[in-house]
This record gives sequence, C-alpha cells and structure tokens, in this order.
Amino acid sequence: MLDSYGISPTGIKSKGRVSNHAVLMGENFTCDGHFDRPIRVVTHAHSDHISGLKKSLTECELVIMTPTTQGFLKALYMEKYGDLEGVVALDYGESFQYRGEKITLYDANHIPGSAQVLVETREGDRLLYTGDFKLPGAWIVPADLLIIDSTYGKPSQTRYFQKRMEDIFVEFVKDKLVEESVNIYAYHGKIQEALKILRSNGIKSPAVMPEKIYEATKFCAKKRDIFGHFYSLGSQKGKKTLTKKHIGLFHKRKNAIDNSCFSVRLSGWIFDRPIRYFDKEYKVGLSDHSDFRRLMQYVEESDPKCVITDGSRGGSSKCLAREIRKKFKKSAVSMP
Ligand SMILES: [Zn+2]
Repeated sequence: MLDSYGISPTGIKSKGRVSNHAVLMGENFTCDGHFDRPIRVVTHAHSDHISGLKKSLTECELVIMTPTTQGFLKALYMEKYGDLEGVVALDYGESFQYRGEKITLYDANHIPGSAQVLVETREGDRLLYTGDFKLPGAWIVPADLLIIDSTYGKPSQTRYFQKRMEDIFVEFVKDKLVEESVNIYAYHGKIQEALKILRSNGIKSPAVMPEKIYEATKFCAKKRDIFGHFYSLGSQKGKKTLTKKHIGLFHKRKNAIDNSCFSVRLSGWIFDRPIRYFDKEYKVGLSDHSDFRRLMQYVEESDPKCVITDGSRGGSSKCLAREIRKKFKKSAVSMP
C-alpha cells in the first residue's frame, strides 16, 4: 500500500515528511513548524523557521535549539517568546536521546546559531534535515533520508561569482563611503555577517542600527570584538554617529529610511552578475544559502537512499527533486 507520494508506510521514506511548515522526523520530532509531536526543533531564528513557536513552547514537551539561536531569538523577539529559559540548548555535535531516538545538531553556516538536524531512529536509520545552509562551510552529514532546503533549486540559480562576492561587496561599500554614508538592508543574521566582513577588511566607519538589531549584534559579539564600533539608533552615541559618515544596518523589509544615504540591499536572488541596480537601489548578491550547484553537491556527498526537497518555504523544490532523480538516479520527492 503506497500513499499519494508513492511512499510505503514502513520504508525509510516514511520516517520523514513535510507538512505545511513542519518538517517531521522519526516518531517524536517536528522541526521549524508546530505539529502535535513531543519535541519541537528550531533550526535558526529566521521568521519562516519559527512559525508556531509560541504554540510549541506551551504544547510540546521540549523545544530544542542551539544556545546561539536561543540568544538571537531572545534579542529579537523577547516580548513574543519570553526569555526561552525552558528550552534545551544543544551545541553542535552534542546529542539528546528521547524514547529510543537520538537528535544531534550540526553547523549549517547560514546565520549565527543555524543548525542542521540529524535524527537517528531506534532501527539505526539516519534522517537528516538541512534547514537553510550554505556551502562551503556547512557540515555535510551522511544520511539515509535527506530532507533538503530548495530555495535555489533550479540549475540557473547558480552563482559563478560567489567566490569573489565578499571582495566585491567590500570594494563597493568602501568606494561609496568615500562620498557618503551607506545604509545596508538585509535579513537578520546576514546583517551581522555583512558588518563582520566589512570590519575584517579594514572598514572602520561607525555603525548604527535599530534597537533590536543592536541587541542581536551585541549578543553575537559577546565572544569576540568582531563588529568594531556599533550603536543603537536611539542612544546618544547613535544619534551623534548619524551626524557623521557611518554605516546604517536595517532589516530587509524596511524601505530605505534616509535618502541622503546610499542604499545597498543584500539579496541571494541575483545570478547573472554580482551587483544589480534596480528600483532605485543597488542589490548585492551576497547570499547565506547554497546555490543550485551546492545543493547538488550536498546530495552527492551525503549519499542518501532517498531525498525529500522542502517545498514549504518557497523556492524550487519540484525542480530540485527532478534534477536529483535525473543526475543521481535516486528517489526524490518534493513535499508538501
Ligand atoms: Zn534562513
């Protein structure tokens, strides 16, 4: 008897599935979306991966995430989720056992704290959900069943300039800062990565950012001074910094707030060139996701028996599943 995906209820394929935003693994785990399961896992602090978290915090027995994701969520959403003191904070490589199943988190190299999830079943099957990840940098975890991010699942979504992208970004910002202040718009996590890249390449202009981004950046900076001088927009120092040449850092969904500053928007959706002028602003192709070529590399090296491409968060999951079937002759389906 097969279900609508052609999946036998007892085979390896039946041990993972995607239902709305929830990635279900083994018998006990739901990742990145709420479901009636004892354990909720949060792979990282982006909004499309924390859906239903409030419900999970009250209805699931346990919520698991890395300590960095816990701190990041606290900085950004304290009023919504509270201090998250009750969650199980698992470091990369650390395992947690629950009713015969074992969960381990691995670095996904996507944003600070981002994790991939490995669940080992009582039969010894290895189920791996990548969440959002970026190669090179993320661990490639061997798996029997692989559930993979599909954001850039089309062959045309390959960035051949990726290796040079950081240098191009640094030179672009450096050049603009000679003339005027620069506002950078990006998603949480990428904001901090962008500032780190600029600092490690000698750009010292002070940075200002809204209070929540300031708190998240302060949390990320705890271990090392990697962000140079940065201030909250509302603080005295922040206000003073605005009168000088500076770097502004804002969440991507905000419209450009100050027309006297030069605007740069970081976006993964550029494939034909590193920088594009569009809609009165520059888009720079600095991405925190794997492109198509890297998704295929993950499948090849993880070498699973079968693959589920995650179609619950946009992207091109059907196309990616087709390409995996074609190239590797492996079973691959898009879900939901
Ligand atoms: Zn993400």
